[in-house]
Amino acid sequence: MRVFLFLLMCGKLRRPSLITVLAGLTVVTAVSMAYLLVYLVNGISTGANNLDEAKTKQAVQSLISGALDQSAGLTKDNAKWDDAVTAVYGKVDPQWLYDNWGSTTSDVNYDISLVLDEAGKRVAMFSDGEVLTAEPTDFFGPGLDGLIATLPKDAVTFATSSGLIKTAKGQAIVSVAPIMPYAEGKTIPSAKPRLLVLGKTLTPEYVASLGERLLLQDLKLVPATTAQDSFVPLHARSGVSVGYLKWTPDRPGDKAKAAIQGPAIIAISSMIACMLMLTFVSQRLSAGLQKSEAKAWSTANTDTLTSLPNRHATVALLQRHLSELKLGKARELSVMLADLDGFKDVNDSYGHLIGDELLRGIGAGLAVIAERYDAALSRLGGDEFAFVLVGEDTRKRSKDVAEAALKFLAEPMNIKGRIAKVGMSIGVTMVASDPVLESELLRQADVAMYAAKGFGKNQCQFYTPELDAARNIRIKMAEGLRDAMAKGAIQVVFQPIVDARSRRIAGVEALARWQVANGTWVPPDQFISVAEEFGLIDDLGNHVLNIACREAMSWNDVYLSVNVSPLQFRNPLFVERLTAVVDQSGFARNRLELEVTEGYIIENSDRARMIIDKLRSLSFRVALDDFGTGYSSIGYLRKFAFDKLKIDRSIVHGMIDDTAARSIILATTSLAASMNMTVTAEGVEIEEEAKLLHLAGCQSLQGYYFGKPQSAQSISTLLDDRQPEIRLA
Ligand code: C2E
Ligand code: CA
Ligand code: CA
Repeated sequence: MRVFLFLLMCGKLRRPSLITVLAGLTVVTAVSMAYLLVYLVNGISTGANNLDEAKTKQAVQSLISGALDQSAGLTKDNAKWDDAVTAVYGKVDPQWLYDNWGSTTSDVNYDISLVLDEAGKRVAMFSDGEVLTAEPTDFFGPGLDGLIATLPKDAVTFATSSGLIKTAKGQAIVSVAPIMPYAEGKTIPSAKPRLLVLGKTLTPEYVASLGERLLLQDLKLVPATTAQDSFVPLHARSGVSVGYLKWTPDRPGDKAKAAIQGPAIIAISSMIACMLMLTFVSQRLSAGLQKSEAKAWSTANTDTLTSLPNRHATVALLQRHLSELKLGKARELSVMLADLDGFKDVNDSYGHLIGDELLRGIGAGLAVIAERYDAALSRLGGDEFAFVLVGEDTRKRSKDVAEAALKFLAEPMNIKGRIAKVGMSIGVTMVASDPVLESELLRQADVAMYAAKGFGKNQCQFYTPELDAARNIRIKMAEGLRDAMAKGAIQVVFQPIVDARSRRIAGVEALARWQVANGTWVPPDQFISVAEEFGLIDDLGNHVLNIACREAMSWNDVYLSVNVSPLQFRNPLFVERLTAVVDQSGFARNRLELEVTEGYIIENSDRARMIIDKLRSLSFRVALDDFGTGYSSIGYLRKFAFDKLKIDRSIVHGMIDDTAARSIILATTSLAASMNMTVTAEGVEIEEEAKLLHLAGCQSLQGYYFGKPQSAQSISTLLDDRQPEIRLA
């Protein structure tokens, strides 16, 4: 949940789903394609229908004109005939007429025939193989006269005239032609030609047979038609409508449409199904992908141990906040780096499982605090956590967070029955109007955090540019120190430690010295802490130990005291290495005393006790240095088996005027006596102090009064002289 919120803060979850867009597109495409297909099929089908309709109309029209032409041709063949001239002009031959034009009216070509004389009177008239006695004008109506009127009136010119006429039998195709000899130029025995009229009634059968020629099954002649029908209007020569030829259109488009409709529906449905399936599959795939992407993102951004956001996520969050700051969306941003003090020792003494458990517990506790102050918590790695705060009042809120975190850690934690206690050094940096890079913010917080450590740990420091300068100095110093160590330029001086009663040199304390190029000496307090911070202390300690042991070899009866940094205790190989250095130099182990300060001992009492016991079992002696400055309690002292206590010079300096200091000294010496420890007083500068300290029960004394730290050479000289004058007092 926390990482989810962090993701939200980083804006990682706002991405629109590409697949939703794709799915939408797919559906729209499928529907459009289906629509397009339907549209196209409809269009093509209507087009095909229309085309067919127009073609059929044309065909029906030519069918009629063809029928008229055919009728005209037939009439011409019969009228332009020498036998006919003989049978019609002069003495009319009724038998011939019947044989040739009467009986034939029951044939298919024509069903009406009429021969008119020069006056337009009937010579013979037949229908359906029978003689007709009706008046031609009654039978044919006025249409026939119209046809005759278009014929030339002379006796020489041959022509035919055809048209649609309404007869007593119904609508008919009728042609008229003058009866003339076949050969051109031959004249008829009359001034005006007699006429042959042949007619074919448009009976339903005949019209249907005409339609069959065009594969139209139901061609009909109707008096009027409705708009939906396919039809061709028929006109008499006069222009008068005689009716319509009507048929059921073939509509091939509809047929094609009907034929493809089934497969098209199947094709469209399968296409839509396919697309939907594709969308579904890709959605599933993409959902899977998104899921694994989200999982990968979460893995890349989550610390597996604490489930808190990790460094990567923190950097992303800072980048986001900084860009918002740039845009003026956010007001302030505060970054807090919190590094645990003494975590490594918990790890080393109790093992990694307990260490991990402790980190988880601390993570959970800090998360509660982060939530309270609306801060984003993350674990940057190791024992380093970070809080990021945005909005208003981030300075005050950061302070509150730090205070709550320090308070939370002040209580020792019970991890699976082990009591672990760690501190926390917190560095804070803030940015408001002047945005910087996130790496710079982290660097500033880091500098502040190191300053917090430098100022005594377990506290919170806000970043200032001065800290930067101090840090740069330390970084430079670390570089110089590394270089000096490589060149063997770190020297060792020795300060005498005298027996309080005899004032004879009983031992010497080895102290490191570093002279830089310009001749100045760097105070050991400074370069020792730099060595501790930059991981050089193990080498430095061994270097001093090695030189000191070799120099002190020749100083018989004098013990050698060497300082050990608490950080050296943390190195699991510390005891092994120390023993190796001492043994290699040939210096007797029981002449070596190791001075340790109490800071480490209090933080990691179990492990410290183990190491101290180990050292003592290897014949080394162990002294508690700077006693009286820290929290040393009798309880603690009882836990450890020190050989010696060294009373800090700050106590010694105060003792002349300060009765409290004197009582501390008295309490210390009696305590030490009860625990079988000896006491050395440091920083003795005047005779009075020496006397009082002796009386108070200190066995040995150290200070400028007896000798400053000096070269091995001058210690040798001192020892050679065996100082009777020092003994004087
Ligand atoms: P320390 O272990 O307490 O060493 C004694 C310090 O007191 C020395 O300072 C010494 O010069 C100073 N001192 C001795 N007598 C007097 C006196 O009468 N008056 C005054 N005012 N000072 C006196 P120094 O050499 O500057 O060392 C300071 C600290 O640096 C040491 O304190 C020790 O903690 C550390 N140190 C020095 N050399 C080493 C080393 O080789 N290894 C480690 N780990 N720490 C070292
Ligand atoms: Ca010391
Ligand atoms: Ca000391």
